[in-house]
Amino acid sequence: MDTPHTSCQLREYLGNRFVYAAISQRAGGLLLGIEMTPNQKCNYDCVYCYVKRDPANARRMFNVRVMLAELKELLQMHRLGRFKELSIFSKVPDELLRLKGVALSGEGEPTLCHCFAEVVSEIVNLRATAQWPDFKLMLITNGSGLNQQPVRQGLRQFRTSDEIWVKLDAGTDEAMRRINRTRVTADAVVNNMVAMGQWRPIFVQSFFCAFEGVEPREDEIDAYIRTLAEARERGASIAGVQIYSVVRPPANPACTRLPLNQLSSIARRVRAETGLCAEVY
Ligand code: SF4
Repeated sequence: MDTPHTSCQLREYLGNRFVYAAISQRAGGLLLGIEMTPNQKCNYDCVYCYVKRDPANARRMFNVRVMLAELKELLQMHRLGRFKELSIFSKVPDELLRLKGVALSGEGEPTLCHCFAEVVSEIVNLRATAQWPDFKLMLITNGSGLNQQPVRQGLRQFRTSDEIWVKLDAGTDEAMRRINRTRVTADAVVNNMVAMGQWRPIFVQSFFCAFEGVEPREDEIDAYIRTLAEARERGASIAGVQIYSVVRPPANPACTRLPLNQLSSIARRVRAETGLCAEVY
């Protein structure tokens, strides 16, 4: 936000521990992000992740009460139009300072947060009070934890207009081991996407980059597109596919941006071969 999962040009904690403000290209404006994993825990280790994981952070715990106080403060700042007064946001056009949502995200995988359902519950309760402006709630996830009971319990509180953004960068275990450096399998993610997508629409986020100068192989792109098509055929409602590449220097300099024409070519193939709406960001 930029969370490691998504692309943002600006991100600022404003002295907070758990809530930050970010301008997100894909959300099209201001997001208030919840740092769900202050310990930076993730079950992926993507080659392109910008997070420099520090063992000293491993014991940092989420605190729901502090998060809520910080969220209220930023909502209030937004209501009073005070973001423009901050030097980091002073040059941002007004239309990009419109609040697009509150995102459950952060420097790790948000579904690993030990109090996921409680966080959702508290934010949904806050949203329900007339005191605060209405906002969309978003989950930005690598998809591996969507089958977990506490996560399901939290997501049941989402309303129809809230959004779930799921990462899918590859269609094979071999490519996932190389790009996402995880033991989570492609099948596990697709099964979760299908189960979630049969219940409510999801968005898919897919990152492509060159690694050590080597671009994704054609057979890998084929497998990725087949995986999207399979998820759709199995009944997953996929509202959109967001294709993107490096937008700011990742922690690993071996990872470089794919040219726009290649990203566009992948998006074209997704549209033609799966019928899904795909856009490059
Ligand atoms: S899934 Fe984990 S490792 Fe990959 S980009 Fe997101 S936070 Fe980083």
